[in-house]
Amino acid sequence: MSKEQTVRPARHYINGSFRDSADGGVFDVVNPATEEVITVAARGQVADIDSAVDAARGAFDDGAWSRAPAAFRRKTLFKAADLLEARSDEIMHLQTLEMGGPIGPPHPGPHPLVERSAWNLRFFAEEQELAGERAYNRDDNLLTYTMSDAAGVFGLITPWNSPLMLSTWKMAPCLAYGNSAVHKPSELSPLSMGVLCEVFEEAGMPAGVYNVVLGHGREAGAPLVEHPDVLGVSFTGSPATAKDIAGRAAPTLKRTSFELGGKSANIIFADADLKKAIPSAAMGIFMNSGQACIAGSRILVQRSIYDDFLKAFTEVAAAWTPGNPLDRTTRMGPLVSKGQYDRVMGYLDIARDEGRILFGGGRPEGLDKGYFVEPTAIVDASPDARISQEEIFGPVGVIIPFDDADDALRIANNSDFGLAGYIWTGSQDTAHYMSHRLETGMIWINTGFNRDLRQPFGGVKESGLGREGGELSRHFYTTTRFASFPLTPR
Ligand code: NAD
Repeated sequence: MSKEQTVRPARHYINGSFRDSADGGVFDVVNPATEEVITVAARGQVADIDSAVDAARGAFDDGAWSRAPAAFRRKTLFKAADLLEARSDEIMHLQTLEMGGPIGPPHPGPHPLVERSAWNLRFFAEEQELAGERAYNRDDNLLTYTMSDAAGVFGLITPWNSPLMLSTWKMAPCLAYGNSAVHKPSELSPLSMGVLCEVFEEAGMPAGVYNVVLGHGREAGAPLVEHPDVLGVSFTGSPATAKDIAGRAAPTLKRTSFELGGKSANIIFADADLKKAIPSAAMGIFMNSGQACIAGSRILVQRSIYDDFLKAFTEVAAAWTPGNPLDRTTRMGPLVSKGQYDRVMGYLDIARDEGRILFGGGRPEGLDKGYFVEPTAIVDASPDARISQEEIFGPVGVIIPFDDADDALRIANNSDFGLAGYIWTGSQDTAHYMSHRLETGMIWINTGFNRDLRQPFGGVKESGLGREGGELSRHFYTTTRFASFPLTPR
């Protein structure tokens, strides 16, 4: 029996123990690289959400975590980070099986995505301990001090495209500031979170503080959003789901944070360092098979270098050959699911009408099984075309020429989205001019995706509402109040 076939069924984690669904329901977990069912996962419903929220509420009221000294929470989260790194191979193997992301070359230490996830835990463990309160003294008559306390139970709803990293990005601040959580991972990535539950338990986190309910969006996600004991929902996923969540959260006036999709422009000026810009443009759209919210899916190239760019980009893209994601040399794995494969193939049909396929555009030769799509570039499409406007979430870049900075801005800002923008130029003036006018939440100049966890991560327009990172996460996951008392004047 292959290693893939020995995967244990995935179960909910509620009040410190792994459980089946109340009604015994399960769903199949499919390996997208082979199309084989590798195991089953518990299919959560209202009853499972109710149990998990009760456990989270009970843990919060008990105070063993919510009112614990900050140093205790830091110690626990640091220990969890160490344990997570020690189980890097195991968790990355599960993640690759569930969503097809390439496991990548061997590393001397933990896998970079595990390292980043451990950093999420350590960063917020320290942030919550070091964060200070404010005090105001009004003319020696009134002293006011602010308090930012753990707020309650949060629902965390996450997508499949980077399950461990995106989940820890939410749960780290949520838990660090003393809250309890009910986490609903995507139905397409239910395996890897089990390791995290074991890690938190071993690190000494009290039962009920972190709970996981597996299952589908409407069946498990919606009851979580509607639950009256859930104070807030942090969601990463598509704009359509965010709108549904916003509607369901409104009757109980929940706080919400939305990190959503994108159609980000990667803008390359003629004076850019093309040796860096071109491989970075390929990485920006082919990494994770284009299934990244911050993918640079619209590649805007100054007209004077357009033809040379197409040639060089085609050459660079040849290195992104799809293959078995468990193979250490593979850079590009399959898409996550049949649904996603059909969706991307549908867009490629549209692309043939709306523009011209420069390279790629189909299933790679020799890969008859699995949801693989070739790295693809589309040219000669209008900036208004559907393939230039809609988030494809696949390895499909649309390349559009522009004349000058204002033309680039007009094309880039012609979008319902506004997540990230990338600017490649040798001129600081151009970079500055562009960054003040580009309608996106995040801008990277002469670099690809590069993080500082204090950055305000998030988007504008349909790309999101709210910011997470550093103290902005603290504002979301705590309740800020004040207490005042009179002073005896000096
Ligand atoms: P999705 O919106 O379909 O699902 C995300 C999560 O929401 C899943 O756990 C799903 O089960 C759940 N869900 C679905 N319907 C729900 C409902 N009605 N109520 C409550 N929960 C529900 O998104 P996806 O396909 O999993 O992820 C891809 C999308 O996520 C893309 O648009 C991508 O750009 C976006 N994304 C954004 C970021 C970011 O940080 N901005 C990061 C990664 C992905």
